[in-house]
Amino acid sequence: AVVHHEMSPILKSTSSQWVLQVALDVPVSVSNTGVFDYAPCEVEWSSPDDWLGRAVLVSFGRQQVVGWVVGHAAQTDVPADKLKAISAVLAFVPRADGMWLQLIRFMARYYQRGLGEVALPALPTALRTASQFQEVDGRLSLGVGKQAWKKWQAMSVAPAPLSLSAGLLLSEEQERVLAQLTQAAQAPRQSPQLLFGITGSGKTEIYLQYLAGVLANHPDAQVLVLVPEINLTPQFYARLTARFGDDAVVSLHSKLNESTRLVNFWRASSGHARVILGTRLSILTQLPNLAAIVVDEEHDSSYRQQEGVRYSARDVAIYRAHQLNIPIILGSATPSLETWHAAQTGKYGLHILRQRAISGAKPPAVQLVDTNKTIMMDGLSTALRSVIDKTLAAGKTSLLFQNRRGYAPVLYCGHCGAVNDCTACSAHMVYHQTTRLLHCHHCGTQKRVPKACASCGNADLLPVGQGTQRLEETVQNHWKAARVRRIDADITRKKGQLETQLADIAAGEVDIIIGTQMLAKGHDWPNLTTVGVLDVDGGLFAQDYRAPERLFAQLQQVIGRAGRGQHAGHVIIQTTFPEHPLWRHILAHDYESFAADELAVRAQLGLPPFAAHALLQVAAPRIKDALEFANAARTAALNIIDEHGFDTLTINAAVPMQMMRKNAQERAQLLIESPQRSKLQAFLPHWQAALTQLKSRLTWFVEVDPAEI
Ligand code: ADP
Ligand code: ZN
Repeated sequence: AVVHHEMSPILKSTSSQWVLQVALDVPVSVSNTGVFDYAPCEVEWSSPDDWLGRAVLVSFGRQQVVGWVVGHAAQTDVPADKLKAISAVLAFVPRADGMWLQLIRFMARYYQRGLGEVALPALPTALRTASQFQEVDGRLSLGVGKQAWKKWQAMSVAPAPLSLSAGLLLSEEQERVLAQLTQAAQAPRQSPQLLFGITGSGKTEIYLQYLAGVLANHPDAQVLVLVPEINLTPQFYARLTARFGDDAVVSLHSKLNESTRLVNFWRASSGHARVILGTRLSILTQLPNLAAIVVDEEHDSSYRQQEGVRYSARDVAIYRAHQLNIPIILGSATPSLETWHAAQTGKYGLHILRQRAISGAKPPAVQLVDTNKTIMMDGLSTALRSVIDKTLAAGKTSLLFQNRRGYAPVLYCGHCGAVNDCTACSAHMVYHQTTRLLHCHHCGTQKRVPKACASCGNADLLPVGQGTQRLEETVQNHWKAARVRRIDADITRKKGQLETQLADIAAGEVDIIIGTQMLAKGHDWPNLTTVGVLDVDGGLFAQDYRAPERLFAQLQQVIGRAGRGQHAGHVIIQTTFPEHPLWRHILAHDYESFAADELAVRAQLGLPPFAAHALLQVAAPRIKDALEFANAARTAALNIIDEHGFDTLTINAAVPMQMMRKNAQERAQLLIESPQRSKLQAFLPHWQAALTQLKSRLTWFVEVDPAEI
């Protein structure tokens, strides 16, 4: 039921001497601060300070919305007859403490967003969807989450007791690293600690033993463990509960059912849960007794929020640890170059594990196949085919990595050369055999395969190139008796199919696995001995400057799937560019030399971590209008520099984005660079204010530390 207007009387006179500042989820292009004034409603407390950090319901425009009280003031610019009172205080949202409000303020300032835009998404949907609240006996109670609320009310809010199990006996190397981390935690001023070690080197075991120490130190301490992807949570959760007990651990991610999500949120934000395992959004959860943070796979791009407020959960975690002066451990086999650079220059601590924890397991042999010099059959080289033959004969499993889903990436007219493009995006449409439709992977549009070429009428349209579906067909044709399974985003659409496929693989009932990056991570299949990498050359020459870093990490992950059991692994990488320098580092399993080379390039080109970026993106039905706004934004930036003298800033030209059309919008961008982050940060609020002043109807936002430029 909708909460009606009677709930928010307009005050006849300003009865109180002060107003409350309420952060609402309003885009920064509409309101520069996202904070609005309201008069207090009647409550049982008297001091304005008692209002801080409370979630409230207010009327905004013609709606009732949820907001956070972030401050109070002696006066307001809102005329007395327009000032509305708070409709209700939401008792089902835990009150935020000053530290959390400070964190939100930092994020809003750093990422140039409104306070409410940052703060509201931290709440589970049920707690911030006012239209679902119900009024009972003059009080609001939750609609959707009622049962969860009852369940939570019946639980104790006291910090949950741990039931600790003993850890594994650490190797000498692990022992040394754990001692170093414990030592680092004694420092008066904490700095991030990088734990660098290949997959299987025992990083997780170190986290567990380290966290056990932190939790044992204080009876109410909470620790937060971040993982990049939801499908990595079940196995991590199992390890955490096995070590710390079922009652003390909660997980927080968006695939939980609503009721569990709510109870877990309350357990975490009340201080009840001691160990919180979460994906990127959980970094915003209030945790009153947070004492340590672990960010596993810290390099992973899934830590970037790419919708709404664009932030890096890894970076926010680093700030949060800094703010509370608590330890933070960043773990990775292929650290981000930002983190690696900070560790090399002594800003972060560095701890290295060089051996696999289970003795006997060795890194697999990696072989490069030059596709210019071998006979290829449907994309498979002779060498790869013969290794798969041998693997099949030995009763082992092979994995073929093809990071492109669908059947064929292009439908091509052999007569006039026309290709099928999406009308809404600057992208080819991908032919899918399973649906017999053309799919756009950017906007989701699907359309029927044309009977003839739209340009010349030729009826002979050819699917060109190879996606996972075509590879599956090829492989099944070639090895008729083999049990083949495909794992990519398309199969997740059918409920339960991914689980079934993974279960088949785990049970050893699959001979050849075909898949995208989806299966590069986290899986441990002892029977898998052979990996074939097909067609990743695109990543060698991509325009995005982070592409080599991503490709290296991805290949390390894929390669790491082979030979995790007692059997030696074999990896074949097919490439048209065997001379590319990246391969040398891959063949040597040498992240450190790769990182050194790549950082040298970044330094030379003045790219992060040697510079900081902010990127304005503008979308409009026509590129002309998007560019016009971007150019106005450029002029505004130049004026600010004239006036305030931010001399180290480079304001680039406004240009169409590399993928100009997306979702029927045409997009322009403007990049601002500075070798000093602080200079950029000082400039941005001025610019943001000027942009809001431009009062444009177009969609635009500034992304700080953008993923791509
Ligand atoms: P990572 O997090 O670096 O991938 P894990 O901590 O998951 O590594 O360890 C890899 C495997 O080795 C796991 O099966 C783990 O149980 C095992 N392991 C880790 N440390 C030890 C140890 N000290 N003794 C025995 N087995 C270990
Ligand atoms: Zn499209």
